[in-house]
Amino acid sequence: MEQERLELVEYCRRMQADDLTVGTSGNLSIRRGDHVAITPSGAAYEDLTAESICVVTVDGEQVDGTLEPSSEVPMHTLVYEHTDATAVVHTHPLYASALSVLLDELPPVHYMIALLGGPVRVAPYATYGSRELAEHSVTAMRGRFGVLLQNHGATTHGESLAKAYTRSVYLEWICRMYHQARLLGEPRLLPLDEIDRVAAKLDSYGQTVPSR
Ligand code: 13P
Ligand code: ZN
Repeated sequence: MEQERLELVEYCRRMQADDLTVGTSGNLSIRRGDHVAITPSGAAYEDLTAESICVVTVDGEQVDGTLEPSSEVPMHTLVYEHTDATAVVHTHPLYASALSVLLDELPPVHYMIALLGGPVRVAPYATYGSRELAEHSVTAMRGRFGVLLQNHGATTHGESLAKAYTRSVYLEWICRMYHQARLLGEPRLLPLDEIDRVAAKLDSYGQTVPSR
């Protein structure tokens, strides 16, 4: 899992630089077969090294690393159980977190919401790290690549860490855009068939931008 450890450390640094989380909040993981490399709990991202990364089984049992694995292991492993994802990104970004206390669903205000699979639902609140939060997240993410967690933050997944991360960046940007627009009035929404059309076009767009 050496490559995965290095990749996780690199993306933790990015997550901080991109303002996608605050303090030690958030966690990232990569799945390889029956194992999941995941960030440690309460990690100070600036001090993180490849050795700090933990490895757990897909059932959540720790098999490597001296630090305690992320408290959100149940959410990460449940996403892997229910999807083809090989990476999960959980963050506490400002706009996604703010909208999570107001909305039931982030509406299609921008065509790039196609990257998330369509309008992004808000999973009902449950205590961080709980099995209940993991279940709410996976249920709300059905048919989507991302979810807002009520009074908490956001989670995305993907077929690589680069793609899962890109989805988190776009999700936060769309939340911010929606917030800006709502300050001035009632935003126009795009029809869902347009989101499907864009999703098909994105299949051949860019390199790190994930297709649906
Ligand atoms: P960990 O530091 O245990 O990964 O938890 C942070 C978090 O975001 C909990 O939801
Ligand atoms: Zn969290």
